[in-house]
Amino acid sequence: MSPSTILGYATRAVGQPLEPFTYDPPRLGEHDVRVSVSHCGVCHTDVHAIDDYYGITNYPFVPGHEIVGYVSAVGPAASELKEGDRVGIGWQGRSCMECEWCLKGEEQLCMDIVQTATWLPYGGFSSSVTVDSRFAYPLPEAMPSDFASVLMCAGITVYSPLRTFAGPPSLKIGIIGVGGLGHLAIQFAKALGYEVTALSSSPEKKEQALAFGADDFIVSDPTSLSKLEWAFDLLLCTASGKINWVPLLDTLKKDGKLILVGFPDVEFNSTDLVAHQLSIIASFLGNRARMRDMLSFAQAHGITPAVELMPMSQVNEAIQRVRENKARYRIVLVNDMEGAGA
Ligand SMILES: [Zn+2]
Ligand SMILES: [Zn+2]
Repeated sequence: MSPSTILGYATRAVGQPLEPFTYDPPRLGEHDVRVSVSHCGVCHTDVHAIDDYYGITNYPFVPGHEIVGYVSAVGPAASELKEGDRVGIGWQGRSCMECEWCLKGEEQLCMDIVQTATWLPYGGFSSSVTVDSRFAYPLPEAMPSDFASVLMCAGITVYSPLRTFAGPPSLKIGIIGVGGLGHLAIQFAKALGYEVTALSSSPEKKEQALAFGADDFIVSDPTSLSKLEWAFDLLLCTASGKINWVPLLDTLKKDGKLILVGFPDVEFNSTDLVAHQLSIIASFLGNRARMRDMLSFAQAHGITPAVELMPMSQVNEAIQRVRENKARYRIVLVNDMEGAGA
């Protein structure tokens, strides 16, 4: 193995376990940086991509897009970073910089979005990644690397819509799902000044939801939800899979908003939507300015991701815990390859 060879963990076919995989370092473009990975969170999107849920996965596939590490090489035009800088990288590792959305500063809507993924050619379950330096964010000095890694995808995913769509702090917000995304959404919504109710199908999550800062906790069964008619200005749905929408939408006030950030199955009754003038809004990541804002807001307000640390060599066990919804609340892989993160 040459000294520059990169070691990662790749899946070679749909749904298969990851196995050690070596590859040559990708070419370092003008604006690129190479980042030696110290930590990488495990996101549901990694698991979806392993399973080719989105229909865009190329194998062998190295997942991982909640990355913290240290800059180890810098392209000639990557002037804002230098070797040794600690940075965070999220799902988006580059963008075309010339489509109408990139020119508007909404890079997360880039017309070439599939090609902007950090995991192209290979992601963060790896000794290093190569991304555009403009998508590698310097981290607040006091922020622990494991917390920062989780904020790079889960954090921005919930913070961005709370900033964009929520409005004045007097609003009442329901957070659907208390998991990797939901436990951060509760904290961010509370820090933004909203009155926050956590909604979960698991009654055992009550204590922790309140500890994360929720003002109230409701089990999301139809009987409990019927007591919350017209309760919320906004519902932020962080859950995935099958959801019973009718009793949930009944908790929205007229002109209320439902924001989707996960990938749940959707089926709605248009009568309620139209007659109550409800909006269904989807939100995807956040732009670069929002990412920088999220990191400083999280640091200033003591947002504290709940993480389980596991060595990267146990990546398959970690993925299995995510598949079984057992992560509490986010697993972060600590790179245990020789010389990693240096
Ligand atoms: Zn993610
Ligand atoms: Zn673009």
